Amino acid sequence: MLSIHDHSRDSAGMKYVYPVISRRAGGVSVGINLNVNNACNWACIYCQVPGLRRGAPPPVDLARLESELRDFLRRAIFGDFLDRNAPPEFRQLVDIAFSGNGEPTSARDFPDAVEITGQTLKAFGLLGRLKLRVISNGSLMHQSRVQRAIARVGELGGEVWFKIDRGTAGGILQVNGTHTTPDKIRKAVLICSKHAPTWIQTCLFHIDGEPLDAAEFDAYLELIDSIKTGIEGVRLYGLARPSRQPEAKRLSAQSAESLSSFARRIAALGIQVSANP
Ligand code: SF4
Repeated sequence: MLSIHDHSRDSAGMKYVYPVISRRAGGVSVGINLNVNNACNWACIYCQVPGLRRGAPPPVDLARLESELRDFLRRAIFGDFLDRNAPPEFRQLVDIAFSGNGEPTSARDFPDAVEITGQTLKAFGLLGRLKLRVISNGSLMHQSRVQRAIARVGELGGEVWFKIDRGTAGGILQVNGTHTTPDKIRKAVLICSKHAPTWIQTCLFHIDGEPLDAAEFDAYLELIDSIKTGIEGVRLYGLARPSRQPEAKRLSAQSAESLSSFARRIAALGIQVSANP
């Protein structure tokens, strides 16, 4: 049985395709994991990928990806996969998401994988009915091959969930393990949102028992405010599943109440916001 607490990538016995329960989307999300070697160009301290390492994924076996996708959709739509594997309230497919054990846009074959996914959705009559999503840290949005693929996602009626967890270079380094600046992130979001509808997703939690400090949240708000005309909104979420990184013991979930209070400050900027602890 699938669970909101277990997002393991091998739940259906496939290499690239993995179904998971998505609390945020309210059903079963069809995940596509291109980073089968657990390699990411970031190292977020809350990352749930076991054995995470730095790097990029190997070439994607596109024929296998297509065959797994078709096979899974057949089992979910015409078979009893959902009845046997999902709790009653989650027995619907809600999206198909490039979201795996690393940054999906770092796969050299990401544009082809998007194309294959679009064709498969079309073949099953799901285009426009099953939302195509790309869950990205946005760090490669300056690359033209990534922009072309995101534009294709937009043409297919899909969207991007773009990760912004902190609003200062120091905060980003601490939480995401990468050297970048709020200005680079601002530019990347604006590029992304020109090509496909873009939501910001933000993970909030306590470190060593302490919530996000006021100055860091103010910097985050300033960054979000500066991109608000380009984005669809912000999705706040907490630590639903434990981190699999060395910092795991230092992290703890923050209360639903405190998440809602952060959400209210974002909403006060005129931005659509949701909060899932
Ligand atoms: S960007 Fe995603 S996959 Fe990469 S380290 Fe962060 S949470 Fe993990």
